[in-house]
Amino acid sequence: MTDAPPPPYPGNPTKGPEPGYPPPGQAPPMQGYGQPYGQPQQGGYGQPAQYGQTTVVVAQPALTMVQQFRETPVHTKCPHCQAEIVTATSYETGTFAWIICLVLCLVGCDLGCCLIPFCVDGCKDVTHTCPNCRQVVGKYNRM
Ligand SMILES: [Zn+2]
Repeated sequence: MTDAPPPPYPGNPTKGPEPGYPPPGQAPPMQGYGQPYGQPQQGGYGQPAQYGQTTVVVAQPALTMVQQFRETPVHTKCPHCQAEIVTATSYETGTFAWIICLVLCLVGCDLGCCLIPFCVDGCKDVTHTCPNCRQVVGKYNRM
């Protein structure tokens, strides 16, 4: 900015108390006005709103289509004989039954009461077997 006439500035509404601005052409060398107009609103509007924090939600694949074995027989495809089967369920004493037994012993229900979980199917793990090839297809652990 030497002697060239400064470009016509639009009025800066945020900078209110600026004195009368000389019209371009007959302006003296703009020494005093150089600074406030030279860098219009540095940093005020420069940074756009930070939209970069979009949380990346990675959709977890649901355990890669593993058949969820529960207590009831499930209709599935046997991985051994590739047959469409309905699994045959059998109950086995699992960790859950042992924990119930332990808890019952700690509470004071020993002498037989602690054996209840071994008789209750609801405390046992469920083993799913294929009725076709007798192979174990899956298990349902309560723990
Ligand atoms: Zn099978």
